[in-house]
Amino acid sequence: MHLLRRAHRKKVLEQRFPESWEAILQRDVPYMGLLTPAEQTRLREIVAILIDEKFWEGCNGLEMSDRVQVVMAAQMGVLLLHLDATDYFHNVRTILVYPAAYVQTQEHVGSDGLVHSGSANLGEAWYNGPVVLSWNDALQAAHAPGRGLNVVFHELAHAVDMMSGTTNGTPLLRSREDYGPWHDTMSAAFQALRSRYEAGARDVIRPYGLTNVAEFFAVTTECFFDAPIPFKQAHPDIYQHYARFWGQDPADRPWRSSSRPR
Ligand SMILES: [Zn+2]
Repeated sequence: MHLLRRAHRKKVLEQRFPESWEAILQRDVPYMGLLTPAEQTRLREIVAILIDEKFWEGCNGLEMSDRVQVVMAAQMGVLLLHLDATDYFHNVRTILVYPAAYVQTQEHVGSDGLVHSGSANLGEAWYNGPVVLSWNDALQAAHAPGRGLNVVFHELAHAVDMMSGTTNGTPLLRSREDYGPWHDTMSAAFQALRSRYEAGARDVIRPYGLTNVAEFFAVTTECFFDAPIPFKQAHPDIYQHYARFWGQDPADRPWRSSSRPR
């Protein structure tokens, strides 16, 4: 890491976490209550770094505020609690925040090679480009964890996936030996999920995950962090790979007592 950046980060972390930010965490981010005290401390550090280092821009009349930044950064930070390798999402420089689900006016070729146009989006991530998020949906996700729906987890999972150079549902794994078993597990799970939906069955992984392998990774990452108990029960193989990759065991968190929105 660049020396200047390291020195600057040190300075940022030496500052006291603002009380007004803490109040936002306590009020708007009940996921905090699921974390250990050490993880909460780490999350505050990540929040401070992300707010300092990313360029935050409000779009379509959204006024950027501490609340928007803290709520977004805290959810982004959950992914990084035990994953230092992304260096605070080094490939994401800009966070664009819209007031609500926005409608794309421009056609573009998505990271998955598919062309999207004119469809309502909750958020999107472009290769080395901005992460685009809806404030309304991010706040709802923050207020109601446990549903396996979180647009912030989803978009930042894409960003993590993209760091490997190709957006193919496989991020940079911790060890070379992980790739074979990972591919076997994910291919089998993808096929099995498709068969389940074709047979009219339901699954904790919502059908959007079948769009392509990149969406499969993003949607299952939402499940892993936001509905880990049913996800682990239904897909123990995927869960095990994700627990190793993200360095976390979210199913072990005290969901029942503290995950209720306040
Ligand atoms: Zn997606």
